[in-house]
Amino acid sequence: MSTTVAVVGAGMSGLIAARSLHRRGIDVLVLESADRPGGRMMAETSPLGSRVDLGGQWVGHGHHRFTALADELGTTLFAMRTPKLPDIVQGSRRVPVLGPTMLTTGAVLLMWELRSRLGAPGRWDAQTVEARLGKVPGRQARRLLEVLVEVSTTADLDRYSMRDFAGMVRFQGGLTAMMSTKGGAQEGLIAEGAGTLPERLAAELGPRVLTGRRVTSIQRGEDGVTLRTAAGAVRTAKVIVSVPPPMSARISHDPPLPADRTALEQGTYMGSVYKAIAVYERPFWRDQREHAEFMLLDDPGVAVFDTTPPDGPGHLCFLVAGAEARALDGREPADRRQALLGPLVPHLGTGVLQPVSWHEKSWHLDEHVGGGYAALPLPGSGNGRLPVPSGPVGDIHWAGTETASEHAGYIEGAIEAGERAAREVIESLPSSAAAKREPSQDGTA
Ligand SMILES: Cc1cc2nc3c(=O)[nH]c(=O)nc-3n(C[C@H](O)[C@H](O)[C@H](O)COP(=O)(O)OP(=O)(O)OC[C@H]3O[C@@H](n4cnc5c(N)ncnc54)[C@H](O)[C@@H]3O)c2cc1C
Repeated sequence: MSTTVAVVGAGMSGLIAARSLHRRGIDVLVLESADRPGGRMMAETSPLGSRVDLGGQWVGHGHHRFTALADELGTTLFAMRTPKLPDIVQGSRRVPVLGPTMLTTGAVLLMWELRSRLGAPGRWDAQTVEARLGKVPGRQARRLLEVLVEVSTTADLDRYSMRDFAGMVRFQGGLTAMMSTKGGAQEGLIAEGAGTLPERLAAELGPRVLTGRRVTSIQRGEDGVTLRTAAGAVRTAKVIVSVPPPMSARISHDPPLPADRTALEQGTYMGSVYKAIAVYERPFWRDQREHAEFMLLDDPGVAVFDTTPPDGPGHLCFLVAGAEARALDGREPADRRQALLGPLVPHLGTGVLQPVSWHEKSWHLDEHVGGGYAALPLPGSGNGRLPVPSGPVGDIHWAGTETASEHAGYIEGAIEAGERAAREVIESLPSSAAAKREPSQDGTA
């Protein structure tokens, strides 16, 4: 097969890049390793007809590209129903808002926030988050901080340096922005499921998206590039690789990539995250209480959100991250579900144990995606802080959320990076190949 531009990966970033090129009348093929488009975004339909997002779903405050795309693709944005603070609970007891655990946790978070802005101390280079947490007074405060960092980053805390964590906090605009619902990264939701967006983008691109085509090697030559997949080779003038660095490390290159790109691929890893959604006939908990947002400090540590769509059935969303997510993998499905729903009984009643359906996914077990939410730097590697470099290597251009200048790691970043990579390619193609004219909405030349 041959094309003008080959895009590796049909996640949000690759699809946006491909759509931009297609709308300019440029020949494009998207090669996707999995049997579905979407990558870290994926929605399925519950037996009650509602759409549940197993991957990326929240539209953050100021995520204007994501908001505009949701609107353009005919989906409905709605605000999260959320309290000022979630209920932080251990066993049947709620941690008091003005007690020692919350005061210590607040003080530590404030100190981390200030350090991330003013400059992290030198010792944070070699100190992991786990080691730093060991110095926090109070077992419950340590546990709360552990769960907060895990759920907001998906990192293994013994494989995440304080320096890299501080860098992430600074880049994302502070801890409040990262961890908050209203005004933060978890502000809004899409009623039809965020995973519907890549499905609709792929439908627009039609036969240009080829699933089940894992790219195993990229050969750059004088007269173009050859990509190899198990289903055959693709000849192309330009390539956009939209795969996160730890996963693109599995693609071999001839000639080899420059040392800094190889170091980036080898100095990063994908976070571990398990996500589940319980679907109920209706959000019965709203009869008794204003909200159902929790941080559960038992084993596993879980963040719980009420993601019920407007007029829809009740949805409760569960996130477990880091090493605690992998610890769930060995459990029987029924046992895993009980481990997540059981701790809510003292707070929401026994009705919580009887969802109509249960939807779950361990992203770190997905051989194509590798994990989430984003690639993380290995401690001491000096690589992988967001945004990761995206300078082209010959005819290879780099997309993927990790390369975005703003909101890297989020869907917003994936869109920005896809648009930027498409622009780069358009500028670098000879004008005979790139019809450099105003984009058409349907891709007709
Ligand atoms: C559980 C979870 C929850 C999240 N929650 C949110 C959220 O609420 N809000 C938010 O904004 N973001 C969230 N994110 C992050 C968000 O989903 C990602 O930032 C975004 O989807 C990344 O898109 P991408 O296109 O850059 O990468 P990906 O989606 O990873 O796309 C890369 C694609 O490349 C394919 N691929 C890999 N290797 C190859 C190969 N060799 N050949 C061909 N194809 C290959 C993969 O299968 C994948 O489809 C979440 C992520 C996860 C996992």
